[in-house]
Amino acid sequence: MKIPANRLDRPFLQHQLEYEESALRVLRSGWYVLGKEVSAFENEFATFVGAKHCVGLASGLDALWIAFRLLDIGVGDEVITQANTYIASVMGITINRAMPVLVEPDEFYNLNPDNIEAAITPKTKAILAVNLYGQACDMESICNIAKRHNLYVIEDCAQSHGAMQNGVMTGNYGDVGCFSFYPSKNLGAFGDAGAVTVKSEKLAEDFRTYRNYGSEKRYYNKVVGTNSRLDELQAAMLRVRLKHLNEMNLERAKICERYFDNLNHSALILPKIRDGCHTVWHQFVVRVKDGRRQALIDYLSANGIGSIIHYPVPPHLSKAYTYLGYKKGDFPITESYADSVLSLPLFNGMTEDEQAQVIETVNKWEG
Ligand SMILES: *Cc1c(COP(=O)(O)O)cnc(C)c1O
Repeated sequence: MKIPANRLDRPFLQHQLEYEESALRVLRSGWYVLGKEVSAFENEFATFVGAKHCVGLASGLDALWIAFRLLDIGVGDEVITQANTYIASVMGITINRAMPVLVEPDEFYNLNPDNIEAAITPKTKAILAVNLYGQACDMESICNIAKRHNLYVIEDCAQSHGAMQNGVMTGNYGDVGCFSFYPSKNLGAFGDAGAVTVKSEKLAEDFRTYRNYGSEKRYYNKVVGTNSRLDELQAAMLRVRLKHLNEMNLERAKICERYFDNLNHSALILPKIRDGCHTVWHQFVVRVKDGRRQALIDYLSANGIGSIIHYPVPPHLSKAYTYLGYKKGDFPITESYADSVLSLPLFNGMTEDEQAQVIETVNKWEG
């Protein structure tokens, strides 16, 4: 039995009829971009998150860069974020020619609030907190720091649909919550899609205008915007999946509970959950000790089990960001994570047999 790290067909099969009926409804409607499905999804997702407004966009990266654009963060401005994030978070900043200021993460792989104040300069405009792997950052501490220094808070919630700190859902803490609905995310579409949640009515309106070439009224353009529209088909698919998101996040939690209860190989460091935080388990990320990661990957692969490294090259060492001038050794914690993290198979619709096989295979590893 082969077990890939992720299987996107399984969540489709879990609710196949609902997806197919909704898709047909849209196909037959004669209306395909920014319509009733998008508005309904925006309302339903805002309600789910507990946010005032939601605006659908074409991707998670668009949510990020348009957020910085609309907050007027660009040339000469600095944004503090964690060094161990997915590179899209950093691109959201640099697309606007603003400067990312990277800091080391905490033991939960999230932005470490203790490292923020030392990184603040007169140019700092915002903090970008990435709720990585499904777990909320310590958003309360981060927001307190932001308030003291009069900074915007942007949340990258691409991996945290439903995650909470002390009962408050991610996407509510900052000025803007940026979501991706890329197919592999907890709330995944069947193509690219994204959204923002915002508190301010004015900012929500700005997003609506900006995503559609800067026009409020068709062919009357207020600002130079972009095309970042959400389409009706994806919105309809997201409405189906949103209905099941809580149960699907619970299903992921059950799989991870089995991992916690049964994985016992001494080379693995299992993930930690912050007190008061509710994770939605976007990934089950372990660390492999003593440079043995590649050996484990090869062994798993030889036994038909997939695994993924999230992420092998941190943004500051990525070729794309040579111009930022960082070098190896600048972020030792981030670099040691990049050299040792490994995500084990985790997907909705994963069977108990599949989980048992992953656990047994890992435990039997003689590495
Ligand atoms: C997926 C992801 C993004 C980008 O979302 P897209 O929809 O692929 O543009 C941004 N940040 C993080 C942390 C992500 O995981």
